Amino acid sequence: MNFSDSEIVASILTGEGFEASNDLLDADIILVNTCSIREHAEDRVRKRLHYFRSLKKKNPGLTIGLLGCMAERTKTALMEEEQLLDLVAGPDSYRHLPGLLAKVDSGQKAIDTILSADETYADINPVRLDTNGVSAFISIMRGCENFCSYCVVPYARGQERSRDPLSVIRESKDIFLQGYREVTLLGQNVNSYHWKDGKEAVNFPLLLERIAVLDRRLRVRFATSHPKDLSPELIRTIAAYPNICRAIHLPVQSGSNLVLDKMNRKYTREEYLEKIKAIRSQIPDCAISTDIITGFCDETEEDHKQTLELMKEVAFDYAFMFKYSERPQTIAADHYNDNVPANVKERRLREIIDLQHELSSASNHRDLGETFEVLIEGTSKRSDKQYFGRNSQNKVLVFPITRQKPGEYVNVKVKRATSATLIGEAI
Ligand code: SAM
Ligand code: SF4
Repeated sequence: MNFSDSEIVASILTGEGFEASNDLLDADIILVNTCSIREHAEDRVRKRLHYFRSLKKKNPGLTIGLLGCMAERTKTALMEEEQLLDLVAGPDSYRHLPGLLAKVDSGQKAIDTILSADETYADINPVRLDTNGVSAFISIMRGCENFCSYCVVPYARGQERSRDPLSVIRESKDIFLQGYREVTLLGQNVNSYHWKDGKEAVNFPLLLERIAVLDRRLRVRFATSHPKDLSPELIRTIAAYPNICRAIHLPVQSGSNLVLDKMNRKYTREEYLEKIKAIRSQIPDCAISTDIITGFCDETEEDHKQTLELMKEVAFDYAFMFKYSERPQTIAADHYNDNVPANVKERRLREIIDLQHELSSASNHRDLGETFEVLIEGTSKRSDKQYFGRNSQNKVLVFPITRQKPGEYVNVKVKRATSATLIGEAI
């Protein structure tokens, strides 16, 4: 999401005559797009700012700005604390960046952290940064109103709003014509995408379908799905179109009903498992990945065991795993006690990571001898004689270079597997 936002910022500023630089030391303006989801993310930004301080000492004319969630959350506080920032802009203020930069030029500090109820940047054609020319991200909605009790997103990114479907379809068409072959539709909870224009209402399955029919050579992915809103209609739509990728990211967070309730996730362990069953019965080759938080307030050993059991039962192909990090302003910070000791969180996370390592490895070993259609993304970082690409299940495959070019499809037979990569040969 932040990556996609940076592309919007680049587009707005390019339109005003600014130019993106690949070299930090060459830049007159440094804008840091930030994340507040865990304390660790914010700590990294603070470290980065200290490095920028040394650059500013050498070049006093350098402008430094803070963008995104941390800007929204901390408003003027970080500006005052760091005495380094010239500009602070929240996630809904990017259109004002040219004006804010002009203010900085006139010797003033500039700040805009007003959240909007309808900003979706729908009319802005993002400048693709750091692109492989094959896969692109498209934001289809912004904000979130689910208020999971641990999560800062509703406060940092504001109300949920969906983007005009016509603008999403136009952008998808444009990138296809430019040679891209994969689009990932982004939102905090894409399943609740909803647009109404007069009589016409477009929900997420319909939007997905409209993009899938543009061209069967365009792969469509999406992230993230909230389990409570994963509908039978969405599962049917994925099953119906081979170019909608067989990979669903469905964050479960915990395997314990007590913890899920405290997290305000609005589903139970049993309901989650029912959704998995429905996916597996209609899309048997679908990969399923997840997010897990360990050590949430009051989490017991029994709760932790239930998470491990659920992981085994689903046999996730991949997972992002985190220690709970208390975030200011959230329901959990205000009402619950962050009472799982650091060493216990650490140990539980280790157990979860070790188990997922086994599950990912088993998932990859099940693919031995299988043949997959792979979209070539480029030359492998490890060897210029190898290509890498992904299959529909979002697994990375590495194989000797073929006559096809990046952006083309090739069938690859899997010969070897590690827990992270499949190694094969084009057939
Ligand atoms: N909207 C998505 C959802 O509901 O699944 C995910 C959004 S969040 C950016 C990505 C992940 O960060 C979450 O799924 C959760 O596992 C993790 N996360 C969010 N808040 C956290 C916190 N306070 N401490 C640790 N992990 C957190
Ligand atoms: Fe955060 Fe929950 Fe919204 Fe995801 S659905 S962004 S975890 S509040």
